[in-house]
Amino acid sequence: MGDNKKPHAVLIPFPVQGHINPLFKLAKLLHLRGFHITFVNTEYNHKRLLKSKGPNSLDGFTDFNFETIPDGLTPMEGDDGDVTQDIPSLRESVRKNFLTPFRKLLSRLHDSTNSGLVPPLTCIVSEINMSFTVQAAEEFALPNVLFFPASACTLLCILHIRSFIEKGLTPLKDESYLTNGYLETKVDWIPGLKNFRLKDIVDSIRTTNPNDIILEFLIDVADKVHKYFTIVLNTFNELENDAINAILSMFPSLYPIGPLHLLLNQIPHSHQLASLDSNLWKEDTKCLDWLESKEPESVVYVNFGSITVMTLDQLLEFAWGLANSKKPFLWIIRPDLVIGGSVVLSSEFVNEIADRGLIASWCPQEKVLNHPSIGGFLTHCGWNSTIESICAGVPMLCWPFFADQPTNSRFICNEWEIGAEIETNAKRDEVEMLVNELMVGEKGKKMRQKVMELKKKAKENTSPGGCSYMNLDKVINEILVKHN
Ligand code: UDP
Repeated sequence: MGDNKKPHAVLIPFPVQGHINPLFKLAKLLHLRGFHITFVNTEYNHKRLLKSKGPNSLDGFTDFNFETIPDGLTPMEGDDGDVTQDIPSLRESVRKNFLTPFRKLLSRLHDSTNSGLVPPLTCIVSEINMSFTVQAAEEFALPNVLFFPASACTLLCILHIRSFIEKGLTPLKDESYLTNGYLETKVDWIPGLKNFRLKDIVDSIRTTNPNDIILEFLIDVADKVHKYFTIVLNTFNELENDAINAILSMFPSLYPIGPLHLLLNQIPHSHQLASLDSNLWKEDTKCLDWLESKEPESVVYVNFGSITVMTLDQLLEFAWGLANSKKPFLWIIRPDLVIGGSVVLSSEFVNEIADRGLIASWCPQEKVLNHPSIGGFLTHCGWNSTIESICAGVPMLCWPFFADQPTNSRFICNEWEIGAEIETNAKRDEVEMLVNELMVGEKGKKMRQKVMELKKKAKENTSPGGCSYMNLDKVINEILVKHN
């Protein structure tokens, strides 16, 4: 049994990898700052965690407990219990099915409190997609901290989502608006956004459906945001100063505390939690040995995250572009990366890349990015990948796929100048040319210099006395003052 005088935080992520990872880091940070943690997974994901890490891998951490709730989904065809679940179905199920089991869980924790088994509840920390927690928090008279897992700029756009509807810019009148130059329309009415076009905004505004579920969800988020006690972001001041200030003027209780993984390294005793990990896939660590055999900054790391999918044709264009560049590459190909089938690469390709290319199915990304052999990252621009690449000082080639990724790519390529974008339907010649430019060209050199400057700033922000470091203490104080 743990210490019953500790504050007790219940954390619940949207149940996909890119949302679980940063919230899990926040859970560790709160734990290291003296909190008792209850981390809530779906039953589906919890089984995956235990499968990838081993059945007892999550046991034995004092004051760090896991609870599960059902996700309310019936398994899809081909679901062997180890895939990224369908995101729209998950969203829908979260909206309809999660409040009841979450409420029951809080009641159970409350009862355990009365029997002295766990400390009294102090706060709920929930990720933006889990807004049903606002009602639960009200019922249990708990402050609800909102964790936003994407960039401040994305949050800013969401907070202004109604303005796009009022201006008649979304939903689109018909599909022709996707190709007739309309997406080039300037977005010049949102304070804090510079040089933004419609195509740089979270891609849900590109819908033609007036009842689009995601658009409705974003409106709901924007309307509910004032109900949260405070907002925590995985970004840092110098990276997104304008967007952060713009949100602060609307919502003063806002704390950028990122990059979370750097901040975690700064907190004493964090190594004791190193084996507590949130990866849903089993990591292939052999790629780290392979990287040892390569020259410094010579390898292109290719990873499209946990959700992005592509056609087989697109995969082959990437494959041959990489092969023809003659640069060493490490490519993570998830079993479900290609739409409608598994990936079979020809023997011609395999012979061509020989020991120059390594393909694996999942890797410890932060370790890979920080390996001295990595010289560039071909990425889908998920926010975690973006911020992890910045912290490792690695410039990027951007192939944004959906959601906030166009926004991140715009920042990477135009605002911070630490990357270049690849066409959605990129052909092998373009891939080859951009890979070469990134790895050995003048532009790549400049991007590397700039990303190294941002890396330094990220480190400063998360070191004792830095803004993110101090913000963590401020947000904890706010929670504790409210509690007492
Ligand atoms: N990740 C990893 N190994 C992989 C691929 C991804 O550890 O082979 C981690 C990565 O470090 C990041 C997260 O999974 O923390 C992916 O989040 P991101 O926001 O980049 O993309 P998403 O998967 O949400 O599209």
